[in-house]
Amino acid sequence: MTSDQMISTYFETGTLPDLPRDHFIDGAFVAADSGNRMESFDAGTGEAFSDFAAGTAVDVDRAVTSAAEGFEVWRNTPPARRCAILNEAARLMRAEADRLAVVESLDSGKTLAEAQGDVAGSARLFEYYAGAADKLDGRSVNLGNGNAAFTLREPVGLTAHIVPWNYPTSTLVRGIAPALAAGCSAVVKPAETTPFTALMIAELLLRAGVPAGVVNVVTGTGIEAGAPLVTDPRVRHVTFTGSVATGVGVMQNVAPNVTGLTLELGGKSPLIAFADADPEAVADGAFWAIFSNSGQICSAGSRLVIHKDLHAEVMDLLVRKAQALRFGHGLRNPDMGAVNSERHLEQIAGHVERARARGVEIATGGNVATDPETGKGWFFEPTILNDLAASDEAVTQEIFGPVLAVQTFADENEALALANGTDFALAAGIYTKDMSTALRMAQRVDAGQVTVNDYWAGGIELPFGGNRKSGFGREKGLEGLDAYTRSKSITLAV
Ligand code: NAD
Repeated sequence: MTSDQMISTYFETGTLPDLPRDHFIDGAFVAADSGNRMESFDAGTGEAFSDFAAGTAVDVDRAVTSAAEGFEVWRNTPPARRCAILNEAARLMRAEADRLAVVESLDSGKTLAEAQGDVAGSARLFEYYAGAADKLDGRSVNLGNGNAAFTLREPVGLTAHIVPWNYPTSTLVRGIAPALAAGCSAVVKPAETTPFTALMIAELLLRAGVPAGVVNVVTGTGIEAGAPLVTDPRVRHVTFTGSVATGVGVMQNVAPNVTGLTLELGGKSPLIAFADADPEAVADGAFWAIFSNSGQICSAGSRLVIHKDLHAEVMDLLVRKAQALRFGHGLRNPDMGAVNSERHLEQIAGHVERARARGVEIATGGNVATDPETGKGWFFEPTILNDLAASDEAVTQEIFGPVLAVQTFADENEALALANGTDFALAAGIYTKDMSTALRMAQRVDAGQVTVNDYWAGGIELPFGGNRKSGFGREKGLEGLDAYTRSKSITLAV
């Protein structure tokens, strides 16, 4: 079926045929041990469209046992073969991109175009790490005559991947692609509101040639399925992407097993605009930095930190753009889709209501909304909160929705203090025509990634991750392999 046929089928029937609805363990779909199921909701209508297995510790134990056996097979698969299999996964992902993107859009609420971008980027991730699979060499070390010494770069073992709902496909693949390239096996726990593409990708990997047991998926809640997975002592590395509070809990829970950990947490990233920047470019950059994916991006440019001389002109442009933005059901491909869940919508609304009560100026938006075509669904108007103090809750806390916080500055030092003035340190954008200013700021701002004059510049080839409460460890790029490999030194007396 083409995308259009799938979308018509969905709007006619309220569901999609052939969705995978059970765990994927040892190369097959298997029902939950408890028989319990959870409903999956279309955020664009607020209505359930399918259900899936609610996993518990019993299912997790099965999946981990399968992945422990899978690891022995996969670590002994020649690197060149792993490379060929991951390239085949990229090819299959492109061949099946239409279906993956429709399911991703429906499950998450994001626009079809955004979901298509995520799937295309994920195919690139498989291809990129396929190229690394047969190049994970150690080095020889010179200890002088009488000894020969070298290092091996070994896979760390069985890995667990805890995935959030905002980028179900790309967050999953940026973890499992390097893990597989390195020779690790994986058990994945997708978010409870977005389980389907993880199941589809696990099955696709089996068809690409990944042996049964190497990639397993257990669906369900964080407490029932996520917690037993990360605390299983057979797991040697946990890659967690999600909120700070849950990440801190995972860190505490894995400590007794001394399990390796990558934490990709939240953000409150600034887009810093200097007085000499092009106002149109700043407005356009700031607009997409916050309203892409309905603002549900860890690295969203959720703060505009702008020179006071540019402030009025850019605000005028931004407000007009926000008021012209079309939001609606993701599968109708508007500019902005739905918010992922009713619970999350309430959290966004709570942030804005508290700001309103504090007397914050709401330059545009500020309200819960529905799809203008159907009057249904979970939407929030594109919202801009103006002229905020550095201590304001809307500046210091992650809202994770289409809500931009605007702060003004008078000079570079003040800009830097504001930019670095939250507990987060994930990303930063700098807009200026002066490359000395840009480079000086890029060096001084605390962030894992900095872009200049294009907020979303970059690609899967660049390492990505945060500092301070945004987490630690790097994914993507060649650095993305580090969490999944470890060095072993071998010395021979000769
Ligand atoms: P969340 O922390 O509520 O959930 C994330 C995942 O953790 C889900 O799969 C959930 O089921 C699981 N989980 C919950 N409790 C668990 C437990 N006790 N043990 C193990 N797993 C558990 O986060 P969310 O609300 O789904 O995602 C939004 C957050 O994720 C935001 O804060 C956002 O900034 C962050 N995020 C960060 C990045 C990044 O790369 N830095 C990317 C995307 C999202």
